[in-house]
Amino acid sequence: MSFGIEYFIKPNDPVNHLIEVDLIIWQPQSVQQLQMPSWIPGSYMIRDFSKHITSMHAYEINEKHHLISPIQLQSIDSNTWEIRTRKKPVLIRIKVYAFDASVRAAFLDWERCFYNHSSLCLQVLNQTQQPCLVHLIEPPHLSGCEVASSLTPLTLKKRGFGTYQAESYDELIDHPVSIGTFQKVTWRSFGIPHQMIFVGAVQNLDTERLEKDLHAITQAHIAFFEPSSHKSPFAKYLFHVCVSANAYGGLEHRSSTALICKRRDLPYANQHVDEPSYTDFLGLCSHEYFHAWNVKNIQPIAFQPYRLNERNHTSLLWLFEGFTSYYDDLQLVRSQVISLETYLERLSDTINRYLATKGRLKQSVAQSSFDAWTKYYLMDENTPNAVVSYYVKGSLIALALDLRIREFTAQTKSLDDVMRTLWQVHGSLDEAKQGIAENGFQDIIRLAIGADFLTTWNAFEKRYIQGTEDLPFTELFENHRYILEAQDLSKSALAEKRFGARTVLSDHLLKVTQVLEGGSAGRGGVAAGDLLLCMNRERITASNFHELLSHHSEEDITLHIFRQDLLYSLIIPKDHRMHTKWKIVPRV
Ligand SMILES: [Zn+2]
Repeated sequence: MSFGIEYFIKPNDPVNHLIEVDLIIWQPQSVQQLQMPSWIPGSYMIRDFSKHITSMHAYEINEKHHLISPIQLQSIDSNTWEIRTRKKPVLIRIKVYAFDASVRAAFLDWERCFYNHSSLCLQVLNQTQQPCLVHLIEPPHLSGCEVASSLTPLTLKKRGFGTYQAESYDELIDHPVSIGTFQKVTWRSFGIPHQMIFVGAVQNLDTERLEKDLHAITQAHIAFFEPSSHKSPFAKYLFHVCVSANAYGGLEHRSSTALICKRRDLPYANQHVDEPSYTDFLGLCSHEYFHAWNVKNIQPIAFQPYRLNERNHTSLLWLFEGFTSYYDDLQLVRSQVISLETYLERLSDTINRYLATKGRLKQSVAQSSFDAWTKYYLMDENTPNAVVSYYVKGSLIALALDLRIREFTAQTKSLDDVMRTLWQVHGSLDEAKQGIAENGFQDIIRLAIGADFLTTWNAFEKRYIQGTEDLPFTELFENHRYILEAQDLSKSALAEKRFGARTVLSDHLLKVTQVLEGGSAGRGGVAAGDLLLCMNRERITASNFHELLSHHSEEDITLHIFRQDLLYSLIIPKDHRMHTKWKIVPRV
């Protein structure tokens, strides 16, 4: 394979958090354009990674990489540049500010480095299908550190520094890189090597427990999609885990994932484990791993190929994110990593979370998927009142569809059959297959369950996916082994529900972040940004707020607030609406 494009990555300035990147184009066009991606696949928001480029220079070079003469760079737009060349090799040198600790961009300090190539590597337009080389140069301040990446190595020197290759720009940006001091867990699932590396975990992890649980989850996913062959769409898989104080999230890739979790989410040797937090962590691992099939392989046509300079709209994120959210926890109970009781509790929580906001009655999950770029990903104080989560409702659509299919087929088929058909038609172990069209899910349903289910599916889709009707949970559970039971809320939880405002602690005062439609707070005039001072003349603190609310739940409340540093007195009307929470319990 010949490589017309080479990148040299030098994470050598931790003081200023700057990574220098040289791009060599051996055969540039006479008018050559270069472009930084505006977004990273999997995170549907325009981020304009070019904003972190702090310097940029271009040169004509000779065969030995010696700089011959500078070339003028012309800006075309905020992310695109143009150079005029003599069709001789050129080098473009940029410095990129890297201090984004999320999984989506690039980060460099004295201890570690993490990056996605979409934050560091310019695309050579019209040559993005060309294979490229990446030379990762060991910086002096990280000497002794290791490199972890799923990128294909070509010639490595030591501890992972050296040269890697990618068949195209699309492949290049799908393999993030971690440099640091790692704790590691390694295992094989159906013979496929898996590794999880942790940076930032200061105590010794319980690697035995992690290995056992992760082995069970990854085996379950592989066997789910390929029950007979047990083959996977990747030759090896890597989990990058950045252990932080308080952050949480993940981003999926074709043969790896980048995760960020809280210190307390992980199990440590000889220490008490916070089981609910650890289950959240395993759920995150399960979710991102499931994406290796569902969204990295089975894709909407809208993502084939990804257009990195603009929003790529699809109305199917309820399928790619929602169904993945349904299976992430379901596979935990199926692989016996969590108990059935824990699973039902988590599923009940999802139902309660879905029912807690009015956005579900105004926006369909299809529309929420389409508008993810400007709504779900750009949340503000009104989001709960206007937007439905395609994760939360999408996972409940999967649950509802699963129950409907099981009922319709007298328990002979389930949503698993739909997912496997989706995999066979639109996914592949070898070369990429055509993605699913915006209206293509109906064909998958017909193939998997049969044409006689289509009337049920069409009505279901119209009401709950394209429409905003509430999912009929009680009815859905009717002919199954479980029921949805209404439970009373505690006095304090009921008072909080009736009040209907979310708060955070700010400068020792409770600050309203969101006012939920229908609550007494909104009816009494409370707005986002208000600082809560006292209730019926009694001072409000973070610790007594809910107690005060429940104490005064049977009467109008006088609330004093600061708004724009002015004092206001508001009357919050009493509210006798009943609220319940739902719990899935076995039918007796
Ligand atoms: Zn996801």
